Amino acid sequence: MTILAKFAPLREAYEKLREFGHDPFSVQFDRIVSPTEGILGGRRTILLGTNNYLGLTFDQSCIDKAVEAVVEQGTGTTGSRIANGSYAGHRDLEAALARFYGRQHCMVFTTGYQANLGILSTLVGKDDILVIDADSHASIYDACKMGQAQVVRFRHNDPDDLYKRLNRLSTHPGNKLVVVEGIYSMLGDTAPLKEIAQVKRETGAFLLVDEAHSMGVLGAHGRGLAEAAGVEQDVDFIVGTFSKSLGAVGGFCVSDLPDFDILRVACRPYMFTASLPPSVIASTMQALHRMQEEPALRLRLTANARRLYDGLKGLGFRVGPEANPIVSIALPSREIAIAFWNMLLDNGLYLNLALPPATPDNLPLLRSSVSAAHTPQQIETAIGLFAQIGRSLGLLPATKVHAAA
Ligand code: PMP
Repeated sequence: MTILAKFAPLREAYEKLREFGHDPFSVQFDRIVSPTEGILGGRRTILLGTNNYLGLTFDQSCIDKAVEAVVEQGTGTTGSRIANGSYAGHRDLEAALARFYGRQHCMVFTTGYQANLGILSTLVGKDDILVIDADSHASIYDACKMGQAQVVRFRHNDPDDLYKRLNRLSTHPGNKLVVVEGIYSMLGDTAPLKEIAQVKRETGAFLLVDEAHSMGVLGAHGRGLAEAAGVEQDVDFIVGTFSKSLGAVGGFCVSDLPDFDILRVACRPYMFTASLPPSVIASTMQALHRMQEEPALRLRLTANARRLYDGLKGLGFRVGPEANPIVSIALPSREIAIAFWNMLLDNGLYLNLALPPATPDNLPLLRSSVSAAHTPQQIETAIGLFAQIGRSLGLLPATKVHAAA
């Protein structure tokens, strides 16, 4: 019996996936040529599943800042934020993010995953309660395991269920922290944040919003769902990432809570890992500027999202409930989803295959994420391929399903 024997069922399921053609979990691009195109197996491929919402990965000014930083400050900090890994750039970026959100405090983490892991596991202690949406991202679930708080889940996007659960806990003496996401990463639906903020006010809970997929996407200034819903004053903590709209890697949390900074010496995923390299800090800072000085990026993103969403819905695919930059179609079975994904890739279109149990309602999904950098022609090409392959698999129009309510 080897130490890996417990993974035999996973190995078997994984081998089955690979029988369909490409291995969906080890796609390797030969080269990336732009925010929307890569070379894969020698073939030019449209990238429609990269979370590169504003297309800033190839922005010349961001590249220039990164290059300048690597030349002047080296390739890495080789240390943690609480040792040798805090440079002026880290503090400047924290100040810029705090300013952008109109908050007093900001902590920058090495990934968005660690921002959730660190903030959630540290904010709430063993006498507190973490109240999370059932469809929360893995980083939120993992934070629950890492922390000591009691965890309560409420039904996805259901403020009544949230109210019921908080109400039942009304005599519990500890703090309650409600955690929701701006845009949910699998179906692209937004949280009903106005209603959730009202529940928060009525029950005296704290509220954290993970704006990973909504920063740079929603709100008049790109601050995310809290801005778009007009409830920023009700949100106590905003978590976000640099790995999507800002085109790099890293995470952050902003807050107005007095003494928030004490977390810097209490939060283990902040303290016990190396800080972000200067080049990443520099490109992220510039991306934050670009995002603010060019609202046209957000408008182009919204138009592209609408084009893809309407196109796929019009063909008869079962799309999510809202036209956001994450556009997913639900397919009738795992096998069909895998076959569909392989055929798209063979025809030069890359997107994400998302399979149960990692998906809401155990739906097999083809998940697209649109970029401001996509041309209308690329979106049309993608829709054309969905139509062609959908028909060849017998999905159109026979399985025409209405969008989920
Ligand atoms: N929160 C959500 C909702 C996410 O979807 C993700 C990443 N997909 C993260 C946090 C983690 O971000 P990162 O990839 O920057 O670690």
